[in-house]
Amino acid sequence: MKCLINGTIVLKDRLMTESMIVFDDVIREIVPADATRTDLEYIDAKGRLIAPGLIDVHSHGCVGEDATTSDAEGIRKMCQSVATDGVTSWLPTLMTYPLESLGASFDMLRDLRTESQGDPAAWNGAEILGVNMEGPFISKAKKGAHLEEYIIPPDADFVLSYADLIRLITIAPELEGAMDLIKKLTATTETRVAVGHTAIGYEEALEAFDAGVTEVTHLFNAMNGIHHRNPGLVGAALTRKDVYCELIADTFHINKGLFQLVADCKKDRLVLITDSMRAAGLPDGDYDLGGQQVHKEGIHCLLADGTIAGSVLRLNQAVYNLYTYTDLSLPEAVACASLHPAQAIGVDARKGSIEVGKDADLILIDEDLHIYRTMMRGVTIYEQ
Ligand SMILES: [Zn+2]
Repeated sequence: MKCLINGTIVLKDRLMTESMIVFDDVIREIVPADATRTDLEYIDAKGRLIAPGLIDVHSHGCVGEDATTSDAEGIRKMCQSVATDGVTSWLPTLMTYPLESLGASFDMLRDLRTESQGDPAAWNGAEILGVNMEGPFISKAKKGAHLEEYIIPPDADFVLSYADLIRLITIAPELEGAMDLIKKLTATTETRVAVGHTAIGYEEALEAFDAGVTEVTHLFNAMNGIHHRNPGLVGAALTRKDVYCELIADTFHINKGLFQLVADCKKDRLVLITDSMRAAGLPDGDYDLGGQQVHKEGIHCLLADGTIAGSVLRLNQAVYNLYTYTDLSLPEAVACASLHPAQAIGVDARKGSIEVGKDADLILIDEDLHIYRTMMRGVTIYEQ
């Protein structure tokens, strides 16, 4: 049995000092610090913060790889790369692509999920919780960086045949057959449905939420904005307390001046995501995203026509940005990238916070969200 000692524990609602975490693959005890027990292998946290592993439910790629097109080696490389950001589990997120290609990727990712949920030392990267299917059932009018030629109306049979793998799917409710699929998925599967890349208005958004939609994909982006006489999807998302909202808190996709407003409105339904593409972790230059060329310069990723195309944000940086530009406490900011995403996709019985009985997904950080060590199910998968 291992034990993390000499750190401040970031619980879901407060900081805890003078305590230690006893764990194997699962957290077994959180007890007063005691360096005299002989049954434990002590790990010195060196005064750092001990936080829950971060969870990214919307990330397309990084370090030159892309969940939509990479092979198994590339997916493994991503799982190792995100671990350096403190991410211990995530949803590889697939762009709009022909269903045949998506199906082949899903088959591969299903095998990789099994592998990632096996021996953590052998996998040596973040766990794959399933996939996030962002396209192709989206609105051409709000396609963002998705290729229009592959956008199609919902194919219920295809989605249902992969419902064991798809933890999250984005659907534009205005498409033919979309509302039927939303109802079917939420009534009969574990798949959570988000709305996004959509032109729906306020009333239609409320209808979609009532039909079972629980999340809004990258709030403010790829949807109509808020207006006081036309509140739109943004107005519905901010005011419906039960709905999770994804936020790309890179200060470019959303001005940092709005972070506080979103945090105040959404509270424990705010989910930080990266929406990162393959250029994350790489130098400025030109990269591919879903079949289109993207130019990366600093934190900006743009198509040739100026359309914003994914981000190069890392999830620990997103937490840092939210913590810095709002009045949220550190536990509250961390929860937006751990407990809330776990709850949003229904894995919070096992993931998302430091509690007895949950997986020992633990990271050592400081207040700048610098990552010193990442542990997945009790095994160190990254150490600075
Ligand atoms: Zn998107």
